[in-house]
Amino acid sequence: MSDNLYRDTRGRCPQAVPFTQAVINGLADGGGLYVPEHIPTLTIDEICELAHMPYAKRAMFIYQVFGVDLPDDQIETLMQKSYGENFDTDQICPITSLDAQTHVLELWHGPTSAFKDMALQCLPHFFSASAAKLREEGTLEHEFLILVATSGDTGKAALEGFCDVDGISIGVMYPHGGVSDIQYKQMATQKGNNVCVWSVEGNFDDCQTGAKNVFGDATYAAELSERFNISLSSANSINWGRLMPQIVYYISAYSQLVAEGKLEAGQLLDICVPTGNFGNILAAYYAKRMGVPIGMLFCASNENRVLTDFINTGTYDISSREFILTPSPSMDILVSSNLERQLFELTGRNADAIAQWMDDLKQEKRFRIDPETFAAVREQFSADAVDNATCLETIKSVFEEHDYLVDPHTAVALHVAQNLRGENPVLVASTAHWAKFGNNVYRALHDMKPGEALPEDVAALSGCELNELIAQETGMFDIPAGLAALDSMPIRFTEVIEGNVSSIEDAVSAFLVEQQS
Ligand SMILES: *Cc1c(COP(=O)(O)O)cnc(C)c1O
Repeated sequence: MSDNLYRDTRGRCPQAVPFTQAVINGLADGGGLYVPEHIPTLTIDEICELAHMPYAKRAMFIYQVFGVDLPDDQIETLMQKSYGENFDTDQICPITSLDAQTHVLELWHGPTSAFKDMALQCLPHFFSASAAKLREEGTLEHEFLILVATSGDTGKAALEGFCDVDGISIGVMYPHGGVSDIQYKQMATQKGNNVCVWSVEGNFDDCQTGAKNVFGDATYAAELSERFNISLSSANSINWGRLMPQIVYYISAYSQLVAEGKLEAGQLLDICVPTGNFGNILAAYYAKRMGVPIGMLFCASNENRVLTDFINTGTYDISSREFILTPSPSMDILVSSNLERQLFELTGRNADAIAQWMDDLKQEKRFRIDPETFAAVREQFSADAVDNATCLETIKSVFEEHDYLVDPHTAVALHVAQNLRGENPVLVASTAHWAKFGNNVYRALHDMKPGEALPEDVAALSGCELNELIAQETGMFDIPAGLAALDSMPIRFTEVIEGNVSSIEDAVSAFLVEQQS
């Protein structure tokens, strides 16, 4: 397969780059996002054939048709590392069908029990291999420190993905007292010789601003390079190397449904995705472009409904929108960065329009797309939002009707799928195991209101103990091993730091000094 090249959504990079360079760069110069010049297509036979291979081979095949500039045998090895024993089922992301028309794609069988694993168990290997290739070619000299600010889930998935990967260290910052007991223990007990975790005084915004300021500090970048031969990277969800593994599971899911006799080859399937940064649903769009018979894409929002309003009106407006805390925190987002790639595709790759809209968003906190692009959006997407109380009610009603327990993010998608569905069967992306969000699952099962204080004896339980209680009450004993064991694992990271630039930089340097010794 010939190599594909990547160019940027704002048309500001004169030169297109291969996959490996796009992965290492993350963001393109000029602020745009990388997209492939060529989107490969598959025949329905090729798609259905995938079900007869192990998941790692499916992923390898799709990377190959995309024209990744690494040798085939290396791609194969990396995919076997990405999708092997680290998942708790060899199906990797199995499908549970609630009825003949509703299929749930379980994307949480990886080590951290959330869908970020699907990408973050894969990207680090390709990041490391890409860096090694560029070093060999003489266009890269340094190694990397991945610096991540997290509100909880992404940090753990990144730690687990980059843990003990060659030539890369990872440091994660989370808001002190601002994450759940489970999330705290998942991060503070992280294993690996190349990892560090800091609790930062302040809220998530302070963490994120702190990280941004460190990334923007040219003097510190020079110091890192001189003292440690290290460059900072974020490997965040705009990295093309995180998007590609997500395309894989939609293609794979279609073939799986056909192989299980739940779908006729060629039959249209609608897809419903609980959406935050628009990465997951964008991957479904690319799968459709590649030839998978996908009908409508349903974008499910929580009370932070900026995307739903955008899809329904053509105006993206955060000028007077407040950030709302919901039971589905991984979708609590105002600026949805991967939407930029989607609009690039739906404008027929009009980089000038994208650059203008992104500029409007920055200056005026809103942008409005033209009528043709809006029509293209409406042709592909429908959207709906779910309020917090309805989210919790859905957890309970799905459990009562189907004896199936879902997390709040999946509940949002299930409810929206119910509202928007037409004649096609629907595949609902399930993005987290319920035991990651035990508090709200408990509230849902006990008819409590969103945010209502838990009974004192329940509030006193650790996250693991609460999950045990829920398991006893529901008979759902399938708590993933990585979550069930957290109370008995040694806490490794206890450092609390200030959120200002110099405190973070000092902590990073101290970690790197320790790494060298
Ligand atoms: C990140 C995340 C989402 C949102 O996915 P996007 O790709 O950002 O749209 C939804 N649910 C869970 C549990 C997540 O961790």
